[in-house]
Amino acid sequence: MRPFEFIKPDSEASAIELLGKLSPNVRILAGGTDYLVDLKHTADVPKTVMDISRLPELKGIDEVDDGLRIGAGVTHTEIMQNPLIKKYAPAMIHAAHTIGAVQTRNLGTIGGNLVTCVPSMDSGPTLVALDAEVNIVGKDGTRRISLTDLFVGPRKTSLKSNELLTEIIIPKRSLGKPANFYKFGLRKGQALALVNAASSLWIKGGCFKDLRISIGAVAPVVIRCLKAEKYLEGKKIDEKLVKEAGNIAVTEAKPIDDFRASQSYRNDLIAVLVTRTINAAIDLADKD
Ligand SMILES: Cc1cc2nc3c(=O)[nH]c(=O)nc-3n(C[C@H](O)[C@H](O)[C@H](O)COP(=O)(O)OP(=O)(O)OC[C@H]3O[C@@H](n4cnc5c(N)ncnc54)[C@H](O)[C@@H]3O)c2cc1C
Repeated sequence: MRPFEFIKPDSEASAIELLGKLSPNVRILAGGTDYLVDLKHTADVPKTVMDISRLPELKGIDEVDDGLRIGAGVTHTEIMQNPLIKKYAPAMIHAAHTIGAVQTRNLGTIGGNLVTCVPSMDSGPTLVALDAEVNIVGKDGTRRISLTDLFVGPRKTSLKSNELLTEIIIPKRSLGKPANFYKFGLRKGQALALVNAASSLWIKGGCFKDLRISIGAVAPVVIRCLKAEKYLEGKKIDEKLVKEAGNIAVTEAKPIDDFRASQSYRNDLIAVLVTRTINAAIDLADKD
């Protein structure tokens, strides 16, 4: 591996300043569980690697005016243990539990998971189903975008090379919203998702309200199943309709056919997982 300079700023402000000066010949390192693997094998070694893993501003999970703020540097283990996540977005705990093994969860951050932007990322579907947004900071200031707008393609986001993902915001309207996440891999532990899915919903007068369905590993990025959502929105809860929504979700995906699973097997999984996440969210919801 070619040598590189290693820097470790001690504040978000100095990280942004350094990114501004050094970009595009700089890469960010958080927990390193994805990037160190890449770095060992790539010919594209940057001039500088900037470690942001200890930046205090990227830590913490707090209730803020517009919702729940999760620092981009929060690890999967911290998510699993946090009382605010347990209270307001427990499906995130289910998702974090499925990521790698203890060591990976202790080091890997939620920000790193989203920015790596592999289609099978396990943090994505639940956050998309909860309408999460992200704050991005660069030398020109802060911009907030919806999480779905961060995802551009496999391993490609809308972040510029001089920008830092600083926090994820789950909006107030989604806090405590009944939601569920399922992942199916080839093993029970340490497996990438063949398909993962999350749904969130409210029930008003026995009907679906603000239903969100998101699936991963079956399209270039984690997606929302807008047609399946529209099909159920406002309708009375009915098992047959939920099953049909699972079938509609299949038409919105483009799963690959590879040595791990055929396209048709993945399609079957989408239908089953989407149906299960909706039914599990219904079970959690207050029925008025
Ligand atoms: C054995 C193993 C098993 C795994 N299993 C799973 C699994 O089951 N499910 C799953 O989803 N993932 C899995 N992963 C992938 C990985 O652990 C996660 O994606 C993790 O959350 C990445 O976070 P990190 O902090 O380690 O990111 P890093 O490796 O430090 O960084 C990843 C990328 O994000 C960029 N980046 C990081 N933070 C920021 C930021 N704040 N702003 C801008 N750019 C940033 C880096 O420049 C780099 O390009 C696994 C990895 C390993 C090694």
